[in-house]
Amino acid sequence: MRARSGFNAVMRPLLDVAEARALVLERVPAPRAETAPLDEAHDRVLASDVLADDDHPPFRRSRVDGYAVRAADAAASGVELPVAFEIPAGSPSAASLPAGAAARIFTGGALPDGADAVVMQEDCAVLDGRPGLDGPPALDGPPALVRIDTSVRAGAFVVPRGHECAAGHVVGRAGQRISSALVGVLGSVGCANVSVARRPRAVVISTGDELVPVDAVPGPGRIRNSNAPALLAALRSFGADATRALHAPDNVGGLRAAIDEALTADVCVLTGGVSVGDYDLVPETLAAAGVERVFHGVRLQPGKPLWFGVRGDTLVFGLPGNPVSALVTATLFARPAIERMLGLPDTPPSVRAVLEGPLAAGTWRRRHDPVRVAWRPDGRLGAWPVAYRGSGDVFGFADADALAIVPPEAPASAIGDEVELVSLRGRLGL
Ligand code: AMP
Ligand code: MG
Repeated sequence: MRARSGFNAVMRPLLDVAEARALVLERVPAPRAETAPLDEAHDRVLASDVLADDDHPPFRRSRVDGYAVRAADAAASGVELPVAFEIPAGSPSAASLPAGAAARIFTGGALPDGADAVVMQEDCAVLDGRPGLDGPPALDGPPALVRIDTSVRAGAFVVPRGHECAAGHVVGRAGQRISSALVGVLGSVGCANVSVARRPRAVVISTGDELVPVDAVPGPGRIRNSNAPALLAALRSFGADATRALHAPDNVGGLRAAIDEALTADVCVLTGGVSVGDYDLVPETLAAAGVERVFHGVRLQPGKPLWFGVRGDTLVFGLPGNPVSALVTATLFARPAIERMLGLPDTPPSVRAVLEGPLAAGTWRRRHDPVRVAWRPDGRLGAWPVAYRGSGDVFGFADADALAIVPPEAPASAIGDEVELVSLRGRLGL
């Protein structure tokens, strides 16, 4: 057997989760920007502030279908006004509204100079026999005369220029995730190409001689490599560009070749081979490849053997091989790192919920018990512990929406107790 440093020598003293997370975040390089066309910008993160190009709306806009008037001409109900002209949508009137007249206008139309109010057509009667209220639209121009059956105040049904946003106003901030509504805002201000944070490129390296590809039938003693697709999916959900998975055997040469290839990425995520077995070659091979170890081992369960290091701007996570440990450590450590690389504000560490089943007492390390989450009838979040058979049991774990945090040495928790959760479903959505 090769000479190896023992687990305790390598891994003690273990960091707690918050210390380890802080050490990861310290090493995250600044976000890098690239340009994306607006129709590919949804769900990306703005790399710089976006300013309004103009006042919005850029003209005085009618809120309704009706008649533009001078309010002073229709202060009392029952006034009859000649209809001077019609303003079709998108065709502002060059003429200003003569005193003592109305102009036919439609929702979204630009008010003519002189007009300062709009009367909704439901408050008007068309007096020349042409279709008006409730009738089909007039095909041959506006009616000649309209009676206004309401008293009109200046500004009625008019959206002032710049009412929603003034020119130069910040309409999107660096670090803001681009929602569908923000896509609309960016479109409104003419931002056809958007400066967004480049998605960090992530490569997954699975390790282990026992693993066969997902589409193979495992021989005796072998299992399918489920962590590679699971981690790629997780990394993509965190915002990374993660499509590449390499597999390395449990020998230094093969592992080193995979590591050298993956180190060209922004984030390199290994799984397996990071503990203290004779074939756990990841820490020493990463060191030989020039990756600086930042820490090895965290006081958490599952996921204690977690390894983290850097080479240049590349972050390297050595996750445990057990499928649940791999996904939990990716969520707790790789997710905040990727979010910071995107310029997002730090993830709120947790949300609170009411326990709907008991949790065992805490141990010497912070435990993360998988729970399903749903709204309770009283409007609070409930957390139902899922039946789960340990860190190898991805089947039970797949039922979970969140991780319930059991702090070290915490007493056992009962139904009705409050518990802190880390979402497995993204930043806010549970
Ligand atoms: P290791 O961390 O390499 O000692 O692996 C711990 C456990 O996780 C072992 O039972 C492995 O077979 C299993 N394991 C390691 N890597 C994977 C993987 N890529 N997919 C599924 N199971 C894995
Ligand atoms: Mg292994």
